[in-house]
Amino acid sequence: SKRPAANAIIRPDFKFEDMGIGGLDTEFSTIFRRAFASRIFPRDLIDKLGIMHVKGLLLYGPPGTGKTLIARQIGKMLNAREPKIINGPEVLNKYVGQSEENIRKLFADAEKEYKEKGDESGLHIIIFDELDAVCKQRGSGAGGGTGVGDSVVNQLLSKLDGVDQLNNILLIGMTNRKDMIDDALLRPGRLEVQVEISLPDESGRLQILKIHTAAMRKNNIMGSDVDIAELAARTKNFSGAELSGLVKAATSFAFQRHTKAGTMAGVREDAGNMKISRQDFLDALNEVKPAFGTDEAELE
Ligand code: ATP
Repeated sequence: SKRPAANAIIRPDFKFEDMGIGGLDTEFSTIFRRAFASRIFPRDLIDKLGIMHVKGLLLYGPPGTGKTLIARQIGKMLNAREPKIINGPEVLNKYVGQSEENIRKLFADAEKEYKEKGDESGLHIIIFDELDAVCKQRGSGAGGGTGVGDSVVNQLLSKLDGVDQLNNILLIGMTNRKDMIDDALLRPGRLEVQVEISLPDESGRLQILKIHTAAMRKNNIMGSDVDIAELAARTKNFSGAELSGLVKAATSFAFQRHTKAGTMAGVREDAGNMKISRQDFLDALNEVKPAFGTDEAELE
């Protein structure tokens, strides 16, 4: 089927509720409005407006809060290619030329497709995870740094600056340390839209816990004594990833109850009737602790 003269089309079957993202409705709609909405409008309208699509987005905030999840889901919604992921620390560990070659290739592929298909080219999303890892090194070459960060960031900047004509590239930088990001990267035309993704509040945690227990609830493996609202209230400072970890830990206690004592491989006959109980979650709460935002006074 022929794409309209816009860079991206929204898949009409996509609904926010189905995206598996809990508690980030406001952030999601801000990101969509600022960085993606223009891409679904016809090219001639964009030309008449005399604006350019946003080429870069920075998502910042604590680890495990759903930054990658959002990037992937927006990509899916817009029928973009599977995002290509560059990882900051990995860039530093690799042979200098290799990272640069990879980045060069990401841009070259997008450019080639743009030349062939013009506005019918799909959106190429490049995720740069742990971006602060390379920025830290920038300008610190003399201090014994390898300078790898420098050259990779410089290359990324010059690539981004050079893609004005290319409407099919979007770079999404991610970091837990926005303060570490070189100002040069945050200027207009670069990672110009910056959105904070924070730890979820209680209602966000409730949504996230519902998402991560959806299958076990649907399949009636959740004990009737489990109160998800109670769990949401007791998980202050938990990130989405930690909530998902909590559900896994609770499940592990149920598994443990359903193995034959003293054997590693023996599964009890009644395992098919397994239920995850409130006690499993309480045991899990003793084991899984949030890494960030903890404040002694807040801990019970
Ligand atoms: P990092 O900074 O460590 O890269 P991140 O913010 O990109 O973290 P994700 O990789 O998106 O975090 O999250 C890790 C996993 O945690 C997700 O795959 C998902 O299972 C769960 N998760 C995190 N946030 C949410 C959320 N808001 N809703 C539902 N699940 C979430």
